[in-house]
Amino acid sequence: MGNTITYLDDVEIWLSMTNGGTALLADLLALAGGELSKSSREIYLSTWLAAALDQKIGGWGAVGFDLLKDFPWEVSSFRQDHSFLLSLIAGAREQLGWVKLDYTPSMKHVEFYLAGFEKMLNALDPGLIKPPRSEHWVNSIIPNNPERCLKHGCFMHQEGCVICHNL
Ligand SMILES: [Zn+2]
Repeated sequence: MGNTITYLDDVEIWLSMTNGGTALLADLLALAGGELSKSSREIYLSTWLAAALDQKIGGWGAVGFDLLKDFPWEVSSFRQDHSFLLSLIAGAREQLGWVKLDYTPSMKHVEFYLAGFEKMLNALDPGLIKPPRSEHWVNSIIPNNPERCLKHGCFMHQEGCVICHNL
C-alpha cells in the first residue's frame, strides 16, 4: 500500500510517499519540531508526527495516518495546533536544524513533500474536528515527557529517534 497521509476520501490531496520521501519528511519535521516546540502540547504534536512517520517502528513502506481521523486534534486547541504544524513546514523550508543531518536533502524532494503536507493542512475543515478519534497505534508510544535525541535535538517517541532510525 505504501506510505500515505490521507484526508478522508479526498484522494486528490492524499500524500503518497516513497520510503525515502517519508524519511525525508519525518526528518525535516522532527528537526523543525526540535527547534520550534515550546509548550508541552507542541512537544507532544512533534513527537506524534515523528512516531507516525517512523518506518523502523511502523514498517518500511507501511506508515501513515489520516490527517482528520488519526491526528490528535483537539477542538479547543485546533487553531494553535494547526498554526504550529504550518510553522513546522515553514521552519523546514528555512532549513532549521539541517546542519544536524548526515546528508544534503534534495530541494526538489523537500518542496514536493512539504508542499503536499501543507496543501492537506490548508484543506482541513475545522468543522470536522470532533471526538472520538480513531485509536491509532502511534498514541501508545508517545511518552508523557519526551526526551530529546542528543544527536539531532528532536523529540523522541518511546522507541527512540526517528532521524536515527532513518539513517
Ligand atoms: Zn537522533
